[in-house]
Amino acid sequence: MSISKTDFMRGMQCPKMLWLDAHKPDMKVIPADTQRRLDKGNEFGDKAMAMFGPFVEVTEYIPNTKYLDKRKMVLKTKRFMDAGEENICEASFDHNGFFCAVDILHRVDGNVWEMYEVKDSPEVKPQFIADAGYQAWVLDKCGIELDGVFVVYHYDDEDDPFEPVDVTEEAIEFAHTVDENIYRLDELKKSKAEVMAEMGERCSAPYECWYCDYCNKLREKTE
Ligand code: SF4
Repeated sequence: MSISKTDFMRGMQCPKMLWLDAHKPDMKVIPADTQRRLDKGNEFGDKAMAMFGPFVEVTEYIPNTKYLDKRKMVLKTKRFMDAGEENICEASFDHNGFFCAVDILHRVDGNVWEMYEVKDSPEVKPQFIADAGYQAWVLDKCGIELDGVFVVYHYDDEDDPFEPVDVTEEAIEFAHTVDENIYRLDELKKSKAEVMAEMGERCSAPYECWYCDYCNKLREKTE
């Protein structure tokens, strides 16, 4: 097993959510409006890829599946970096199974880079900085020299909607939280026994959980 950015963020919100993702993913129910929002976010992310001009994209899937071929993506990223590419989208890195794909890795000078995390949101929210902090942690472990960490939010301007905000300091601060929790979450994800967690505020913040039906049914059984 390994921990991706999504795993880390979901595990920090609720340990059971991380465990269910790994062991009972079919129990999740994604509401139609959430799926539409996710699709819209992906479209915004795709458009942002060109914000610095020409770019290359790393995304690769395992043939005939919807699963990323992470190994191939990491190798492809290295090839692009070595080839002198300036803007690498979905640039992928892996440190001992801790994986991330950076929305945009932008070369500043030589082997010095900036990373950009793109969000289809009218503002920068704390969870976006945490996302960027996870990515910065993986890149640091992989020996990538980062000169800046940015969250790009959706600015209200049709012609130029990509607004980067420098969150370098906050993201690096959050990287300490990653260090303190990532190995614990990795163990938890591997647990054979189902992880338990009380329902409550964590079921809707910072994100709506998609396992509420499952957990509600479980709770009814035990009451
Ligand atoms: S519904 Fe609540 S308790 Fe259940 S997995 Fe989701 S966040 Fe955790």
